[in-house]
Amino acid sequence: MTPHDHAAPISLLAPDEPPAVTIERANGASAFVLLVDHAGNRLPRALGSLGLTDADLLRHIAWDIGALATARIMSSLLDAPMVAQTYSRLAIDCNRDPSWESAMPEISEHTTIPGNIGVTAQQRAARRDAIFLPYHTAIRALIDARNTRPTVLVAVHSFTPEYKSFRRPWHCGVLYNHNPALALPLLELLRAEPGLEVGDNEPYSITDDSDYTIPEHGERRGLPHIELEIRQDLIEHNAGQRAWAERIARLLPIACTKAGIAH
Ligand SMILES: [Zn+2]
Repeated sequence: MTPHDHAAPISLLAPDEPPAVTIERANGASAFVLLVDHAGNRLPRALGSLGLTDADLLRHIAWDIGALATARIMSSLLDAPMVAQTYSRLAIDCNRDPSWESAMPEISEHTTIPGNIGVTAQQRAARRDAIFLPYHTAIRALIDARNTRPTVLVAVHSFTPEYKSFRRPWHCGVLYNHNPALALPLLELLRAEPGLEVGDNEPYSITDDSDYTIPEHGERRGLPHIELEIRQDLIEHNAGQRAWAERIARLLPIACTKAGIAH
């Protein structure tokens, strides 16, 4: 019997489980607001292990390794608010519209996610209500509370060095879609750093059909934004996390100035 044989609970998260959202430095002085969609690899107890091993839940399929730790250091260096998701993207991917199949993938890279097969509409709604909605409501509220203060959204992600047998050559990537205003100067600055291979909309690009966070909170609200991807092996450990956080915290304000974006 799997957890899905039971009727969906009223709330997916028990009262003693951690909240879906972590907010740090909500009143930080910075214009930058850091968003970490794939910060955590925790699963709600009600979902069990989704049929995966502990080892699988430590892999990139479950979360963005190193992203939260790096964003935390950036938050501290910039005095920037940070909003991070606690639960694994395998429970519900908070950078997807919940109605999309990819929000609760049945297969991630080469791994079948047994607990995501045959999920009912009610179970999907329970995951959305417990995890996705509180996260995006918190982001919306934090931005609303800033009122007229300059706000620049920075989504922080990490990517696996190898995907489906392809060795990715980039150290980091700058992602954008309809508004490249901040992306292009940041891309140029990163490419000027010694020894860096920087992806231009690589290893992913933002699209209207594959992303939620930047389209929803950045593009729709007309706020300057950037999505960053950093290769996981570079930010697995503290020294790399600190080095990358320092680099991004140093370059972001310069990129804004070059783009004429208030910060
Ligand atoms: Zn991610």
